[in-house]
Amino acid sequence: MTNFDLNGILKNFQIEGEVAQVKLYGDGLINKTYFVETRAADAPNYILQTKNSSIFKDVPGMMDNILKVTNHLKAKVVAAGGDPLREAMTVIMSHDGEPFYKDEAGNYWTVYLFIEDTLIYEKADSPETAYAGGRGIGKFQRILSDMPGTLTDILPGFHNIRFRFKQWDEVIAKDPAGRKNSVQEEIQWIESRRDEMLCFWELVESGEIPTRVTHNDTKINNILFDKEGEVLCVIDLDTVLSSTALNDFGDAIRSYTNTGLEDDPNPENVSMDIQIFRAFTEGYLSEAKDFLTETEMKYLAFSARYITYEQVLRFLMDYIDGDNYYRTNYENHNLVRTHAQYRLLESIEQQKEAMDEIVMENCKLG
Ligand code: ATP
Ligand code: MG
Ligand code: MG
Repeated sequence: MTNFDLNGILKNFQIEGEVAQVKLYGDGLINKTYFVETRAADAPNYILQTKNSSIFKDVPGMMDNILKVTNHLKAKVVAAGGDPLREAMTVIMSHDGEPFYKDEAGNYWTVYLFIEDTLIYEKADSPETAYAGGRGIGKFQRILSDMPGTLTDILPGFHNIRFRFKQWDEVIAKDPAGRKNSVQEEIQWIESRRDEMLCFWELVESGEIPTRVTHNDTKINNILFDKEGEVLCVIDLDTVLSSTALNDFGDAIRSYTNTGLEDDPNPENVSMDIQIFRAFTEGYLSEAKDFLTETEMKYLAFSARYITYEQVLRFLMDYIDGDNYYRTNYENHNLVRTHAQYRLLESIEQQKEAMDEIVMENCKLG
């Protein structure tokens, strides 16, 4: 592991106060995050991050997106009489006036104001936390639903099933690891649903389903709550994109409601917990029902199928490709993941009427 001169890196940023200590912080999986404690009682503390360059190829574009989003959030918070330093992330600029610092080795560093006195839930494993997570994401999307301009597409093809099918068709044609014949049944899981998934994506391509500012990493530990448990601030804005709001909803449902593991070796453990679905949906729509269009609401429950299907496809595609994308811990790991996510997809499909009903009960169509 590289030893960085963290104090030297911090000197490039417009931070207040003298740095007392810098230590590794949190359990984020993507970036390396440090907590920066300052000495003076009246100076704020900070979060320092080095961005994961194998995932993020355009950090300047990313930070430009984050500035646009946080500026809009802050303006809305101020207009509502709130505290813009606590209810939105604050990007600290470098002395060159950039929202990042690039070191000699090419690593990108960013600094944010540390938001003090918060609660973080590590898992949404009760209806109460699922409701809180739904509210957090719904509120984030609502406040940003009137943001002018567009965001740079820093992750081309993200949740775009047409793009995925292009990759899929190439991998199936090549069969690089010689595994295709052994997964004929699994390939049919994908092919039998191809048209349905493309029909949905066509609505996004035609604009019938609008694109909005979306978060794209809706895990509950990316939401800070205040000590009373109220949504305070959505963090981890690396993946904000212009996309369909339904992708945030669908991806949250895929991860929040799974009674088993994403790579559960026993698919019998896996199902979609409808109580967690109900709670997340109630929380989400308590914030989102006023800005979503009728078409978006109609496809809200479907988005859980779409995102879960995409994940089945991606695991199976990586298996056929010879395990190049997802880190695998044992042989067949990607196939185990494929089966576990497929079981979740089936469970979602089996409960689709109940899911649609819950959406209807909680939105203006109901
Ligand atoms: P992920 O695996 O979710 O992608 P990541 O590697 O992108 O994580 P972050 O989520 O940005 O990292 O940050 C890691 C942790 O640091 C957060 O879960 C949170 O606990 C803390 N954190 C980040 N930014 C702030 C902030 N501005 N104020 C307070 N805590 C923060
Ligand atoms: Mg995070
Ligand atoms: Mg992140």
